Amino acid sequence: MENKWSKSETCNGIPYYINHYSEVTQWDHPDLVSAVSSLSTMDNIHFGAYRTAAKLRMLQKVLHMDVVNLITVRMAFELHGYSHHNDSVMDAVQLYNIINEMYHMTKVRGRSTLRVNRSSDLLLNWLLNLFDIQRTGCIRVLPVKLGIAVICSGSITDKYRYFQDLLANKTGSIPRKMMTEFMHDVTQITNMIGESETFGKGVAASVEDCFQSALGQTITQDDFHQWLLSEPQTLVWLPTLHRFSAAETMKHEVKCSVCKMHPVIGLRYQCLKCFNFDLCQNCFFTRRSSKHHKQSHPMQEYCLSSKSKEDVRAFTKTVRNNLSKKHGRRIKKKYRSIEDGYDSDDRASDNQDAELETHVRLSQMSERLKAVETQQPPGLNRSDSLPPSIKSTRQSIGTATTDESRYQERRELEDLIDQLEKENEYVDKS
Ligand SMILES: [Zn+2]
Ligand SMILES: [Zn+2]
Repeated sequence: MENKWSKSETCNGIPYYINHYSEVTQWDHPDLVSAVSSLSTMDNIHFGAYRTAAKLRMLQKVLHMDVVNLITVRMAFELHGYSHHNDSVMDAVQLYNIINEMYHMTKVRGRSTLRVNRSSDLLLNWLLNLFDIQRTGCIRVLPVKLGIAVICSGSITDKYRYFQDLLANKTGSIPRKMMTEFMHDVTQITNMIGESETFGKGVAASVEDCFQSALGQTITQDDFHQWLLSEPQTLVWLPTLHRFSAAETMKHEVKCSVCKMHPVIGLRYQCLKCFNFDLCQNCFFTRRSSKHHKQSHPMQEYCLSSKSKEDVRAFTKTVRNNLSKKHGRRIKKKYRSIEDGYDSDDRASDNQDAELETHVRLSQMSERLKAVETQQPPGLNRSDSLPPSIKSTRQSIGTATTDESRYQERRELEDLIDQLEKENEYVDKS
């Protein structure tokens, strides 16, 4: 904080900031104000989920929550007597102490440069803006825990487990009322970074979606967990944030076909239709393209670094998934990838060639099948929060289409794949 600013507190411990030059006071820490205003630099990202993820990642770093993990968060709440009492309230001083504890524990565990008090001020400010914008000094525990869990580091599945623990009642199920509160609170986070148009309107629909198979007014924790794993539209920015962060320092030994970045750093996108067409995340996010590549082409996203051999593996995974969806189960190691075939010594070379050929044909078929699938029936609305081509890889083969000829083509391709699958099984056995 610059010299012209100083921090003060109201009688109930809520911080505010005084500018001694202009003699004005404000609730917001000047550094948080500038951080929030710089989030608009992400507005050129076309896809809502990635735009939101990029903004949250930026905030996470400003708040230094990228180094505070979920275990530390839980411990800090526990140490201050808030491991339960999720439906109770606390004041700003209690919340500050918990936050401060969290950063302090992180600092002594090896983050020696962490500025504990400054980070605490910023995080408290962010949480109050989210959940006590009127500065009443009466802060509900549950949303604060949710907000911190979203912005801290940790695995996405641990976060999902934590959410379900927070929402469950004494009998271990999640009431509809809690689910509604959860969606409402989480939506505040995206609203606050200017994404209310993208994710702010789906609270009621999300609750309905989650309770679809529920018999009464509660669902099991497991059903809730499964629902989260299905990456529902209103929360898709959260797993996206995790992929985006995990890929941040990844180097891919390919060149971006548009801006020529080499190696590609961050997320990498490979077109499954064009030969040798890769994009870096910036070019993909801003929908930059070149002559032959179309925005409608299916793209494979690489979160982790990959070499050419792994490319093949990733591609065969797509093929396998496509096939296994048709059968409603995952096929385990049924199709060996190309390099597996060449590496194994105990197989006759004839077999390898036959398998390789079948495999390549399977890949081609699967790709054509995917191309047919990704043509949407007319009049179907698509959200722009995720790119259509990436999203479409989650569609099942069984989706009905309105176009008779496409249906025919798909049937033919499915039959062909069936046939090839049998051939492959035969090769596998022989
Ligand atoms: Zn690029
Ligand atoms: Zn392409």
